[in-house]
Amino acid sequence: MRFLSADYLFTLTSEPLKNGVLQVNNTGEIINIFNTRSGSFADKIEIYSGILCPGFINSHCHLELSHLKGISNNVKGFSEFLSIVNQRDDFSKSKILDAIKNAEEEMLQNGIVAVGDVCNTTDTLIQKKARNLLYYNFIETFEVSDVEADNVIEKSLNIRDMFRSNDMKATITPHALYSVLPYLMSRILKISDDKDILFSIHNQETNNENKLFLNKEGDLCDWLKSIKASPEIWHKRDASNSFFKEFKTKKDILLVHNTYTSKQEITDNYYCTCPKANLFIEQKIPDYSIFNIDRLCVGTDSLASNDSLSIISELSIIQKNSDFTLQELLKIACKNGAKALGFKDFGTFEIGKKPGVNLISNFELGLEKSDLKKII
Ligand SMILES: [Zn+2]
Repeated sequence: MRFLSADYLFTLTSEPLKNGVLQVNNTGEIINIFNTRSGSFADKIEIYSGILCPGFINSHCHLELSHLKGISNNVKGFSEFLSIVNQRDDFSKSKILDAIKNAEEEMLQNGIVAVGDVCNTTDTLIQKKARNLLYYNFIETFEVSDVEADNVIEKSLNIRDMFRSNDMKATITPHALYSVLPYLMSRILKISDDKDILFSIHNQETNNENKLFLNKEGDLCDWLKSIKASPEIWHKRDASNSFFKEFKTKKDILLVHNTYTSKQEITDNYYCTCPKANLFIEQKIPDYSIFNIDRLCVGTDSLASNDSLSIISELSIIQKNSDFTLQELLKIACKNGAKALGFKDFGTFEIGKKPGVNLISNFELGLEKSDLKKII
């Protein structure tokens, strides 16, 4: 049994507890939470300088793209980035698997306990079976031609069932509005079952997505035409909202990026921000004043568009570009992601949960200068 205390305990179910104490058993389960250091356990307390918070939830990652780290440096814009990701198969299997292993280790070191991970393959399955971290696997589909749609679904079902047969959460999900035909969207909706909790969809990552749907023009429109995409993609939809309403009748949706989302477009869906990836590809981040603080999550995206998998680094960018308090930033990093992804044991310090424990110190001059240590 351990008794952990720091200057403040951020339980994320109440205001921070000054000198609070967390009693944790040897499996990491929270046995009790005390708002004072005096008591029969007083001589057993491990006292840290800084604050204690639950383990972080990385709500959006593509672990299987980790081997692309660094190759898209100096990329100019979203279309160029997409063409670089298309080179993902030009690497040996051992290089891909090594990169996955190292990336997971990096997340562990950075106090992450669970991940919303986008998969186009089963490359990450071996690593995930070690259960070092908990994953919600989003099996990503995209297809811009109706002819292939049934094959795409078949392939996605196989991948989904490989994850599910290993007792992991897995849901087939559309990549983005601009990359999935209406027919494929309806197939995805139809095969959704009661094991699914959430869809995760890339949304308004580039302004060209807005231009495509609003004016039928722009780089993304040109690119889709160049790959002979069916015009149904941009003709059958006026705006994203009608599509989201259809999905929302089935499950919650996590909309990822939202770099070019306006306040009027915000719905009661979950939103995930990946600011470092946005800066990497588009040199722009979302307007943080538009989001509901109870529905905002944070992710790292993949190492193809980021130099690290660190939630604290993402938070430091959000902190510099918003009015969020430390308590609000930690809700985004822990509680909201756990709720969206359905990880009931994580996200807050509550008796009976096993959320992991992170120590953040030296944060007074901003999270950018802080130190992070994983305690449990
Ligand atoms: Zn992504």
